[in-house]
Amino acid sequence: MKAVVLCGGKGTRLGLTDRPKAMVPVAGRPLLERLVEDVRDAGFTDIVLLTGHLAEVIEAHFGDGSAFGVRIAHVREGEPLGTAGAVRDARHLLTEPFLVLYGDTLLDVDLARMAAFHAEHGGLGTLFVHPNDHPHDSDLLVADADHRIRRFLPKPHPDGAILPNLVSAALYVLDPAAIDAVPADGASDWGRDIFPAIVAAGGRLNAYRSVEYVKDIGTPARLAKGEADLASGRVARLSHRHAKPALFLDRDGVLNVEINGVHRAQDLELMPDAGNAVRRANAAGIPVICVTNQPDIAKGFLTEETLGEVMAALDTGLAAAGAYLDDIFVCPHHPERGWPGEVAALKIDCDCRKPKPGMLLAAAERHHLDLSRSWLIGDRHADIAAAHAAGARAVLLRTGHAGTDAGNRRADPDHVAATLTDAVAFVMKAMGQ
Ligand SMILES: [Mg+2]
Ligand SMILES: [Zn+2]
Repeated sequence: MKAVVLCGGKGTRLGLTDRPKAMVPVAGRPLLERLVEDVRDAGFTDIVLLTGHLAEVIEAHFGDGSAFGVRIAHVREGEPLGTAGAVRDARHLLTEPFLVLYGDTLLDVDLARMAAFHAEHGGLGTLFVHPNDHPHDSDLLVADADHRIRRFLPKPHPDGAILPNLVSAALYVLDPAAIDAVPADGASDWGRDIFPAIVAAGGRLNAYRSVEYVKDIGTPARLAKGEADLASGRVARLSHRHAKPALFLDRDGVLNVEINGVHRAQDLELMPDAGNAVRRANAAGIPVICVTNQPDIAKGFLTEETLGEVMAALDTGLAAAGAYLDDIFVCPHHPERGWPGEVAALKIDCDCRKPKPGMLLAAAERHHLDLSRSWLIGDRHADIAAAHAAGARAVLLRTGHAGTDAGNRRADPDHVAATLTDAVAFVMKAMGQ
């Protein structure tokens, strides 16, 4: 598979005058050199550099790539063509699925794993996606349980809108057929123009959700943050190479007020301290993963689509405090029959309904987590038991059901806390944060 790097940016905001943005020094080395070596180390030895402004600086630095152990082709744009227009003009070099990276991103991603995900799920492309701390001024997207992107929600968003916190991180695997969606002439962008058009036309794009580090460093503040994250080890720590601890959070009674079934987005009431508590874990670089039983889907009280709206309301509430969930796992099943509108296919004795550990095990597989160093915070004994069955530890909260669920065997929590704030503070300390 070839890797295409978009490196026509000017770097005006970084104050660069003698080199293009992709050549900005990051902790002493040009960013593009880091990208080329990352791509090479992931096994991609054919690289296409799409250049424009001060292309000669990049051409002189990399040449044919042999000094870096790769083969590099340079394609220089005559006028700014946008991210999609630039790739269109390199189409003669792109006959197989290819990786697209942006020359202003600092990343540490298992690129081969992402390429394998694309091969497995097919379609015109796979986009690396994650939440951020400012979804209200980001282009957002909605993906379904099969990882298929269903909608794009471009900014600006209306005040008070309920917004799912999922953004494209400017890292893709594309099929050459995706280039057919790019207009033959002029400038266009993948994120703003082409991907929304593909989805609107019924084309398949996949969302690849990961906690790995991908950030654009196109401003002095973001560059400084990226360099700090390199120095602190955060960039590497979140990579798929390393098993890392996570904070698992139950939803009802923990993040939002327990009302025995939230069936509409407007009924979701966030716990008053949820945003600040989650932000504390976000700031520490600990992946925060929601694991929630939603048997009302099986019982027919709630559709997957409505659940998506409820989860967007949760995202929106957390985002008001700059907080986010890195991933969400839902068990829609329920083992017993007898509800008039029930969904027969979901009425099963599954492996994911807490107290079973399936959701935690799936999260560990997706994000390479070290469950023995991970914690769960929940309000029921079923939560505690699920954590223990997965080899993790657990805090029982005195909110929500407060451990009064009678249908489950009592589990021994590793700690009991009065509030989510106290529980997160305890867990962060236990994790050495
Ligand atoms: Mg609960
Ligand atoms: Zn389940």
